[in-house]
Amino acid sequence: MTQENIDISVVIPIYNEEENLPDLVARVEEALAPSGFSFELICVDDGSRDRSANVLKTLAARTPWLKPRYLMRNYGQTAALQAGFDAVQGRYTVTLDGDLQNDPLDIPQLIRTLEATPDINMISGWRKDRQDAAINRKIPSMIANRIIAKVTGVKLHDYGCALKAYRTDLIKRIRLYGELHRFIPVLAAEAGAKIIEVPVRHHARTKGVSKYGIDRTFRVVLDLLLMKFMLRYLHRPLHAFGGAGLWMLTPGLGICAYLTLLKLFGASIGGRPLLLLGIMLVLMGVQLIGLGLLGEILIRIYHEPEGRDQYRLRPPPEN
Ligand code: UDP
Ligand code: MG
Repeated sequence: MTQENIDISVVIPIYNEEENLPDLVARVEEALAPSGFSFELICVDDGSRDRSANVLKTLAARTPWLKPRYLMRNYGQTAALQAGFDAVQGRYTVTLDGDLQNDPLDIPQLIRTLEATPDINMISGWRKDRQDAAINRKIPSMIANRIIAKVTGVKLHDYGCALKAYRTDLIKRIRLYGELHRFIPVLAAEAGAKIIEVPVRHHARTKGVSKYGIDRTFRVVLDLLLMKFMLRYLHRPLHAFGGAGLWMLTPGLGICAYLTLLKLFGASIGGRPLLLLGIMLVLMGVQLIGLGLLGEILIRIYHEPEGRDQYRLRPPPEN
């Protein structure tokens, strides 16, 4: 239904960034207005507790290409991004953080690269010269990046960089849940995307505070487990659980058959540890296969086209 012909949709999740917003909007304009690309800026207010939503509304009133969305409450960065993606109209989608740590000046170069290389679907920023504290940010993130690359087989140096550029059709093919925005390259690779990495600028946060602490490291580990599972078994849960199930059920049945024979020939088997093992293996095997079958039912529901929304929008605030 779009009348406008938008080249670039910039999507930015916003949580308590009132001090950064005016600069942010100005910097995006400075970077994109001279570039020759038409653009829109979709700022998603993720239920900020400060005046971010009001500031956004004020800015949008005098900026036609600024299109804010406001979430009912704080759903987290992933849902905020998805809310932005759902509103994208441009041919290319670019994501940034709202705290000016990424530099909008990098955007035109990323888009030109996408235009010049039709087989690339996505460009991931690489904060080669990252301006964050070493001990609690850079080092954990370096380790995490290595592990993610190893485990998922998607080889990037920097998964956490918010500055990324996509062909919009790719964005429309993936859906983000939980805290999986860090794994977008993995989800994209799963959707068949070709990804490259390009070094981008990075600045220290000058206003506002980071919304995350060191505890996110553990959540990343759990998400990694999930990603590994999703990559391998999402479309065939019966193979994941059923495989293990058969490995238990088969020897279990063997043991039980053997003991049954002994019993028939008059031996007493009631006190044998082997009996316990046999029964346990059979029970666990049956359960795991059942779990796999349940997974298969779930995956069919998962693929139903009409999934429930994971967030709700609210109208703009009264200023
Ligand atoms: N953010 C959000 N919802 C949240 C937490 C963060 O929309 O619940 C936004 C935040 O405003 C920023 C981006 O996500 O634009 C990244 O957050 P932050 O800069 O705090 O993360 P860091 O750069 O420290 O990893
Ligand atoms: Mg930041």
